[in-house]
Order: sequence, then structure tokens, then C-alpha cells
Amino acid sequence: MAIQTTASETVIVGGGIHGVSLAYELAQAGRTVTLLETDDIAAGASGGSGERGVRANGRDLRELPMATVGFPLWAQYQRQFEGGVGYRRTGGLHLFNIPHGAHEHEVRGSIEAMAMVQNVLGIPSQLLNRDETLEREPELAGDLIGSVYCPDDGVCDQTFATQAFAGQARKGRGNLAHRRARR
Ligand SMILES: Cc1cc2nc3c(=O)[nH]c(=O)nc-3n(C[C@H](O)[C@H](O)[C@H](O)COP(=O)(O)OP(=O)(O)OC[C@H]3O[C@@H](n4cnc5c(N)ncnc54)[C@H](O)[C@@H]3O)c2cc1C
Repeated sequence: MAIQTTASETVIVGGGIHGVSLAYELAQAGRTVTLLETDDIAAGASGGSGERGVRANGRDLRELPMATVGFPLWAQYQRQFEGGVGYRRTGGLHLFNIPHGAHEHEVRGSIEAMAMVQNVLGIPSQLLNRDETLEREPELAGDLIGSVYCPDDGVCDQTFATQAFAGQARKGRGNLAHRRARR
């Protein structure tokens, strides 16, 4: 990739999802950005095959406010970027059974509390009993007693998304240079 010789307002180290999405947003804002990456874009934890969860269901409650901001952004990037970012809203189920030694009423209380708190924190969450869960996923079996369903949960191809952000950042009004840095 070409080496940029002019100075940049911002230098970002690392071409993973954090680095490239920040580069994209800064480039959109008209800032000049240099991205230093010792390997290829998405060579680190943001790479690899397959899709990963873009989900709120069952996460640590402290993460949920960020998920309420993230969900519409993923949908927006999917619409805006030519070819999308590899994001799909699929809905997500969090399944419950009764662990050995636990009491059923305690588990049912936990499920209800989880759905209620997630709803209060802005994550639409539906409490499903066993039959309603099996209606949604007929191949499930075992000692399932119910689930919490989040319609806004989804998945995304992390490598595709990371490379898409880098591509869009290069196209932006900013000036993205990708320099191979030595560790
Ligand atoms: C779509 C998506 C869904 C995800 N879903 C989940 C999930 O469900 N659960 C979960 O736990 N996590 C999830 N993640 C997060 C993921 O597992 C990683 O935590 C995340 O991708 C890390 O991104 P990063 O940019 O911080 O790091 P990395 O992707 O590791 O990027 C760091 C980059 O820096 C480069 N680098 C390192 N040192 C130097 C140096 N000295 N100079 C120059 N370059 C250097 C590396 O080569 C690498 O490319 C998801 C990520 C994505 C993109």
C-alpha cells in the first residue's frame, strides 16, 4: 500500500475493528488519519472466519446501554456501505434449564428478572415458556424450561466488517494511509 508522506492529524495504531471504525468516523468528519498496522487489516482478533454475535441478550448489564447505541449503527452501516458490513439482524434466544441442585422457582425468577431488566435498559426482551421457545426453534430438546428472546440481536462477519470499514475510511473525505509498522 502507498506510503503517505504528509502529516496526519490523527495516528491510529492497529487495523482491527476498533482502529478502522475510528478511522472511518474521523475520515467522515474530514480529519486526516494515518493507520499503522503491523500486518494486514483484520489480522488480529477482528479477523478469522465466520460470524460473531452483535447481541445484547444475556450480556453484562453494564454493556446494555452501549448495545442500544450499537444496534442502530450496525443497521445503518449495513445500509450505507456499498456491499454492506456483513451484518444480519437474526434475533437471539438465551435458553434456560434447571441446573443440578437449583430450584425451579429460583431459575424462573432469574429468567423473569433478566427479561425485565433488559427491557428497562432499552433492550426489547420477550419471556418465552418452553412451548413458545420450541415453536421458535423446534429442533431444541432436553430439559429446557424457557428462554429470553431479543428480536434486535444479530450476527456479523467480523473480517468482512473490519475490511469494509477500512475501505470506506480510504474513500472518505479524510486521508487514510495504511503503513505497515514494525512491532
Ligand atoms: C462483528 C464483530 C462481532 C464481535 N462479537 C463478539 C462477541 O460476540 N463476543 C466477544 O467477546 N467479542 C466479540 N467481538 C470482539 C472481538 O472478539 C475482539 O475483541 C475485537 O475484534 C478486537 O478488536 P481490536 O481492534 O481491539 O483488536 P484486533 O482486531 O486484535 O486489532 C489489533 C490490530 O493491531 C495490530 N497491532 C498490534 N500491535 C501493533 C503495533 N505495535 N503496531 C501496529 N499494529 C499493531 C494487530 O496486527 C491487529 O491487526 C466482535 C467483533 C466484531 C468485529
